[in-house]
Amino acid sequence: MNRPKHRGVRAATRSLLVVASAVLAVVIGLFLHGNARFKELLPPFSALASPQPGIVQPSPPRAENAPPPGREEADAPLGSPPAPAVASDSYKFLATNDDGTPVGYSPCRPLHYVVNSATAPPGSDALLSTAIEKISTATGISFVNDGSTDELPVPHREPYQRAKYGDRWAPLLISWTTPDVAPALAGNVIGTGGSTMYSLNKGPKSYITGSLELDTPQITELLAEQGGKDYVLAVMQHELGHVMGLDHVDDPVQLMYPEIGAPDGLAAGDLNGLYRLSSAPCRKDI
Ligand SMILES: [Zn+2]
Repeated sequence: MNRPKHRGVRAATRSLLVVASAVLAVVIGLFLHGNARFKELLPPFSALASPQPGIVQPSPPRAENAPPPGREEADAPLGSPPAPAVASDSYKFLATNDDGTPVGYSPCRPLHYVVNSATAPPGSDALLSTAIEKISTATGISFVNDGSTDELPVPHREPYQRAKYGDRWAPLLISWTTPDVAPALAGNVIGTGGSTMYSLNKGPKSYITGSLELDTPQITELLAEQGGKDYVLAVMQHELGHVMGLDHVDDPVQLMYPEIGAPDGLAAGDLNGLYRLSSAPCRKDI
């Protein structure tokens, strides 16, 4: 049985502030082909470094496009994840800064998230909580559940939505949805996810928010299969791994391998990659 998964990457840049910031959105799709294994196909990595011309959206500098900097930012990381028990360099990052350090979320502030759970399959909230807990443990990132939302996923989500979420970066949006609402889920795609990078001038980039979409009809079917819950949990962790900043690797024992034969969860390479992301810089400036 095969359950292939694929992914696509969308990227966009635009100016946000007079100081010439840039936002790069990375969205990754997970395709489902109906059997017990899944596989993703890699897009050209250059899609990350060179945004597609068609979706570059220059806009006039507007200070209201960013919230006041440093909200909830502490002086030190909120968590201290344990160093992985097994060393491994079998991980890869979706984006790095000029000095080679990976782009991640600031570990000094909580990562708020909201869930559009209007169509969520019964019992899926516990799976999502478990997946988030595992990623939080591995990264030290403190996730805060801000509850439910009626926000719908869109291809180019505004990272700052003051009217809806107040004077802060919009929370990570997790949506149970369908291809009708989120066209990127068309066909065999069962999930998409990614994060938005932000930088001041040409300084280091950090993720400020993200989105993760789950295909309700397909995942409902998957949950009805024997062992389906474990696969859904693996899919959630895999996509959250992308949200955190992990890319695919060629090592088949890792959860970030494009083709997952068994839902074994985070392996040594995944854990080491997430651990490195935990030392992303704190960002009182954004
Ligand atoms: Zn993937």
